Amino acid sequence: MSEYEASPLSRSDIREIANLFRRSCNLTDTKFFPIVHFLELVMPKLDEQFVWLSVPKSEMGSKHGLAYPDDKLIKIREDVYEGAEQGNGRDRFTIAHEIGHYFLHKKERVSFARRMGAAEKLPAFRDPEWQADAFAGELLAPPHIIKDMSVFEVMRFCGISQQAARKQLKSCG
Ligand SMILES: [Zn+2]
Repeated sequence: MSEYEASPLSRSDIREIANLFRRSCNLTDTKFFPIVHFLELVMPKLDEQFVWLSVPKSEMGSKHGLAYPDDKLIKIREDVYEGAEQGNGRDRFTIAHEIGHYFLHKKERVSFARRMGAAEKLPAFRDPEWQADAFAGELLAPPHIIKDMSVFEVMRFCGISQQAARKQLKSCG
């Protein structure tokens, strides 16, 4: 889907940014990153104009989340928000992904739909979807926390899906 190119960011650039967020709220070594709390209470502190909305499925359709960095807005589909509150890994990841767009792709007049399986034409490090996914992975399950864990432990302790846990463990190198 990415007809748009973002400024290049490597995995280690994104890792550093995600760690800054963790450090800024004294959550550097917290296994289960409280992403819903972060959206609701920390984001407005980081950006006074920030607004987020929980939007009914009838309005959002197949989109799980949308970020409008220039309008200071993130929309999360109602059921996704509820899922994230209950600790559902995929829903937690969606919120982290949209927060990634919000901070990484701020100056662009583009909105991003969270779509699964989008064809990637751009090199990964320039693709905004890759960047937002990398941010979500690094925020929820950074290497310094998961490096000695199994896939199952990463899923359980960090609250992410099996797919995301595998991907994060691979990226630990
Ligand atoms: Zn996206």
